[in-house]
Amino acid sequence: MSYPKKTIGTDEKNAIIGGTLYLVATPIGNLSDLSERALKVLSEVDFVAAEDTRNSGLLLSRFGISKPMISYFEHNKRERGESIAARLEGGESCALITDAGTPAISDPGEDIVRVCAERGIPVTSIPGACAAITALTLSALPTGRFVFEGFLSGNKTDRRERFEELLGERRTMIFYEAPHHLRQTLDDMIRYFGADRPVTLCRELTKLNEEVHRTTLGEAAAYYAEKDPRGEYVLVVGGSAEKKQTEDYPEDIAEHVALLEASGMKRMDAIKACAKTRGVPKNEIYNIINRKDDDTE
Ligand code: SAM
Repeated sequence: MSYPKKTIGTDEKNAIIGGTLYLVATPIGNLSDLSERALKVLSEVDFVAAEDTRNSGLLLSRFGISKPMISYFEHNKRERGESIAARLEGGESCALITDAGTPAISDPGEDIVRVCAERGIPVTSIPGACAAITALTLSALPTGRFVFEGFLSGNKTDRRERFEELLGERRTMIFYEAPHHLRQTLDDMIRYFGADRPVTLCRELTKLNEEVHRTTLGEAAAYYAEKDPRGEYVLVVGGSAEKKQTEDYPEDIAEHVALLEASGMKRMDAIKACAKTRGVPKNEIYNIINRKDDDTE
């Protein structure tokens, strides 16, 4: 039997190509995580676009790199994205670095990639640290299927809608959170997911004070009622347990609706509630019930 030849990788794709945007991942805390390839790209591109030019300037100077730098952040991303794209079309090469980690994950990098894609400008990625993936791998929760939720909105309605969408989510969920919102977020999560739901709180990843706290939402809330949250957090929350989903209501849809009607609900309300619990469109339930009624007439 012949097996495919194993490879340790290739360094063929290392030449800097004019007119290309390089998304360069930077460390999320530990400077040694900046890759050899990232350093090469940062040293050789025509210019660097950075979310925070002061921080990124310090990072580059730490590695002896001096490069023309422009800012690219949330509040100038529209005009600046256009001017970066125009320079790329003119043949210059650009490295995009954001505050930390992989550009385009919960930062303005997402927009410039779309602008480049629309204009047919080549974009390539120099992969490296990403807080979400680092936390997931350390969480001890299932990693086979997961959903990245980024930051929760500060707006109450948007927040409530997001949690409602996540009710019954079976995949492991990953959230970014700032320390001053942590307590509120844990309280909200308890309300929607229950105090027993497993959570891994990952703090200051790759830094000296890295902490991976594997617990439940209830215990985490009690812990942070006593202790001030500090540093940057990723919350990895276990998905809803599969069993609970089927235990709560009968498998048969008509039986489910009949049970709700028997509890005093009007037919349409029972259909709506049944659809919501099962996470299916209400007209699907409506059609099933109608067909059933027709069959029995
Ligand atoms: N693009 C970045 C990435 O690849 O992960 C994320 C940028 S987002 C603006 C910043 C958030 O990432 C922080 O608020 C925190 O939730 C998370 N984060 C970044 N560095 C972290 C670290 N060292 N430890 C824990 N969380 C971190």
